[in-house]
Amino acid sequence: MTKTSSHTPIHVIGGGLAGSEAAWQIAERGIPVILHEMRGVRGTDAHKTDGLAELVCSNSFRSDDATSNAVGVLHAEMRLAGSLIMRSADANQVPAGGALAVDRDGFSDAVTAAIEDHPLITVTREEVTGLPPEDWDQAIIATGPLTAPSLAEAIQARTGADSLAFFDAIAPIVHTGSIDMDICWYQSRYDKVGPGGTGKDYINCPMDEAQYNAFIDALIAGDTTGFKEWEGTPYFDGCLPIEVMAERGRETLRHGPMKPMGLTNAHNPTVKPYAVVQLRQDNALGTLYNMVGFQTKLKYGAQAEIFRLIPGLENAEFARLGGLHRNTYINSPTLLDRSLTLKGRPGLRFAGQITGCEGYVESASIGLLAGRFAAAERQGATPILPPETTAFGALLNHITGGHIVSDDEPGKRSFQPMNINFGLFPPLEPGTVTKPDGVKRFRGKDKALAKKHATAARALEDCARWLKD
Ligand SMILES: Cc1cc2nc3c(=O)[nH]c(=O)nc-3n(C[C@H](O)[C@H](O)[C@H](O)COP(=O)(O)OP(=O)(O)OC[C@H]3O[C@@H](n4cnc5c(N)ncnc54)[C@H](O)[C@@H]3O)c2cc1C
Repeated sequence: MTKTSSHTPIHVIGGGLAGSEAAWQIAERGIPVILHEMRGVRGTDAHKTDGLAELVCSNSFRSDDATSNAVGVLHAEMRLAGSLIMRSADANQVPAGGALAVDRDGFSDAVTAAIEDHPLITVTREEVTGLPPEDWDQAIIATGPLTAPSLAEAIQARTGADSLAFFDAIAPIVHTGSIDMDICWYQSRYDKVGPGGTGKDYINCPMDEAQYNAFIDALIAGDTTGFKEWEGTPYFDGCLPIEVMAERGRETLRHGPMKPMGLTNAHNPTVKPYAVVQLRQDNALGTLYNMVGFQTKLKYGAQAEIFRLIPGLENAEFARLGGLHRNTYINSPTLLDRSLTLKGRPGLRFAGQITGCEGYVESASIGLLAGRFAAAERQGATPILPPETTAFGALLNHITGGHIVSDDEPGKRSFQPMNINFGLFPPLEPGTVTKPDGVKRFRGKDKALAKKHATAARALEDCARWLKD
């Protein structure tokens, strides 16, 4: 058995948003780190420089509002936790209204300098081509959506063919509270109970013939993303974008994901719907539902407009819209334990977008957690997980356990990457949000905003308490 001490380095593979943050958190706890980054030796399709934490596309970290926006809450928690990524972003901010946008070169330079100057971090420019050797007893894989092929193959060989995705074909996800249940109803097709079901597991949106035809016309006319990279994409069977299905024939969707069979409109039982859109519970809390079979590469604006044509979804709020991206990520809910360790391989963690979170800040925050967890273990302690009421905890919970696995579509991956959003937080205790004195009507937007304020305040309070532990 290899003997380790807190002087034995922890290896971090990938010097992106997650890997840089993980390395920093470990080193700040007095533990040496070897950070392996391949750029400088081998590039990716999206990165343009050799700098650490390069932003490959937008220069925005999105909203910085920690009172009513979930990503703003995550920013605030990261600042509380001493994040290098946030410190470097704050120091390189450019004007962007309520968003935190950065000078991308200044930001990457600041991260690179901090990492390279840290006495406990060694950066090696090399491609890691296989799983970390056993004598790297503590390691973090943070190689991102564009993980180099040989490492991706090694991960796939270790975890199984179905456990690694190479692109996302994502269906939109809707906040349950924004669905009009005076129009929709709960029912599983043919009232099938299935394993763990109730016979009422889906929310159904009915369409008559005219509504269906108008919807198909809108889909076909809809603006799709112009990504050249998707030309000739070999779509997985059963995973075709809906607009591609609609183009194949007016009736295709009615015989596919929108088939009305086995469903009776609870509000109008004598009239058979011509087509039905089904939504399936997406998180254990029941606050999010995904649109079954609605993966799409329509542009975001077109999606929101077209999907709000669906009866019951007129006021739908989307936790995420559909999309198609090149993205390497593992099936974390089945592969990782709660502290991001690969089951059956103690000491090997995953972090960043490869775990199935999405976005710069989310990836960095999972790097922050993986770094702290690995450091705790190196010091002989058990990692203390952040409470689920925090943005850290909500995201970690989505990745490692809060997601519902679909039993009725065997073989289909149901875990999809997601940005942080309030739908991932546990609901507030009843009575937390009450009508302010002197206010006559307290509902709609005002109530929703008050709930966001309360959820954000709870998160920051619980995060501060967790960090003191
Ligand atoms: C084309 C594209 C556009 C995007 N646009 C946005 C956007 O606008 N906004 C947003 O929030 N998110 C965007 N994303 C997602 C974004 O990439 C992630 O949110 C973020 O960069 C993920 O951080 P990460 O640390 O997990 O991965 P990365 O930042 O990609 O870092 C991974 C690092 O690992 C290195 N690496 C890979 N394989 C190996 C190996 N075998 N050995 C050693 N090193 C290796 C890579 O060179 C890279 O530096 C985009 C992604 C892509 C692919």
